[in-house]
Amino acid sequence: MPRLVMKFGGTSVATVERIRNVARHVKREVEAGYDVAVVVSAMAGKTNELVGWVKEASSLYDSKEYDVVVASGEQVTSGLLALALQEMGLKARSWQGWQIPIMTSEAHGSARIAAIDGTGILKGFTDAKEVAVVSGFQGMHQPSGRITTLGRGGSDTSAVALAAAIQAERCDIYTDVDGVYTTDPRIVPKARRLDKVSYEEMLEMASLGAKVLQVRSVELAMMHRVPTYVRSSFDDPADPKLGTLICDEEDIMEQQIVTGIAYSRDEAQITLRDIADKPGIAASIFVPLAEANINVDMIIQVVSDNAATTDLTFTVPTADYERACAILNERRDEIRFQDLQGATDVVKVSAIGVGMRSHAGVAARAFKALADKGINIRAITTSEIKFSVLIESAYTELAVRTLHSLYGLDQA
Ligand code: ADP
Ligand code: ASP
Ligand code: MG
Repeated sequence: MPRLVMKFGGTSVATVERIRNVARHVKREVEAGYDVAVVVSAMAGKTNELVGWVKEASSLYDSKEYDVVVASGEQVTSGLLALALQEMGLKARSWQGWQIPIMTSEAHGSARIAAIDGTGILKGFTDAKEVAVVSGFQGMHQPSGRITTLGRGGSDTSAVALAAAIQAERCDIYTDVDGVYTTDPRIVPKARRLDKVSYEEMLEMASLGAKVLQVRSVELAMMHRVPTYVRSSFDDPADPKLGTLICDEEDIMEQQIVTGIAYSRDEAQITLRDIADKPGIAASIFVPLAEANINVDMIIQVVSDNAATTDLTFTVPTADYERACAILNERRDEIRFQDLQGATDVVKVSAIGVGMRSHAGVAARAFKALADKGINIRAITTSEIKFSVLIESAYTELAVRTLHSLYGLDQA
């Protein structure tokens, strides 16, 4: 029998009625002849509530206990979906991450999957034609026997990893939109749904802020070549649409220069004024940040004309901003900067497309278009298939819409 992994996100399992609707989608695939493993998220809003409770109980919380609490949302929905499937006359059972087990690293709160033992699930398929309902987001660190979680949005990763482990024909990610769009359809109504998008581009889009898939899930899909669809759980279960296929670049006939626009509010800017312009200064700034596990993203250093001092600007994730400032201020005497200026009201807007490899001047057009709208660019980074600009967050929507139109992505 061919195997299928179906994943349903928080909005798709937000109520018992919606869980029943999910069960109808599953029933359709079982009747079409698939052995099905379903991965579920917690009900919409549940994980946020659980995180809130953890922080209320302890501000400097133990991440092992954080995982125990936040993993519980998925336990509820896996049991409920198994019950809904049984009510429809299907055989089904729930699986928690530790029962399978899904073995992960020890990085509580953002663990990485190391291995999945699919034996039990496969046995359920062959012995009993039993649907496996798997709690997403959860794992287990085997040496310690403790529950782990895969980071926010991690159920996508559970699904793709499981699809690879049980050699599923494909992985269907059901969500509240009917596919991957040229940009977030919530802020650009003219965004277009893509029929196909390459692994590489999807990886960039997810990394640069498109929250439709967790970054790690795309990495795994690419690594194991899992054909992955993003599709809507709100389609009529009797008449579903295929959604967007994430696949090899070679399988896409028509390539645009720019495929999508993404934005991330999770950026904070730090500028150090009048630092000494001499060897070793960059290291004295970035080594301590790296040691504190702070990811630095965009970096610009001004070439000074006096050769004595210069300015350096870079970005860090918003959550690490205060910590980064504290680390730099502690080392003020060593780095010898005059002033530390920071801003958290910034956003990174990016354009992604494999066509950029073979076309020059793609980013330059964006700089002009943004300038025409009076949008000031604070920092720029480019790489082979994307470029990003850092701007004031008040201009997010204007900038995303401007670039979306500029590259011909608007719906007719
Ligand atoms: P789920 O709860 O099913 O995991 P998410 O909220 O994590 O769903 O992801 C779906 C959301 O991702 C959509 O509602 C949409 O607003 C957002 N999104 C951001 N960028 C894109 C994009 N390029 N295409 C589709 N959706 C996007
Ligand atoms: N429930 C988890 C979260 O909200 C995992 C997921 O939904 O993918 O982040
Ligand atoms: Mg999600």
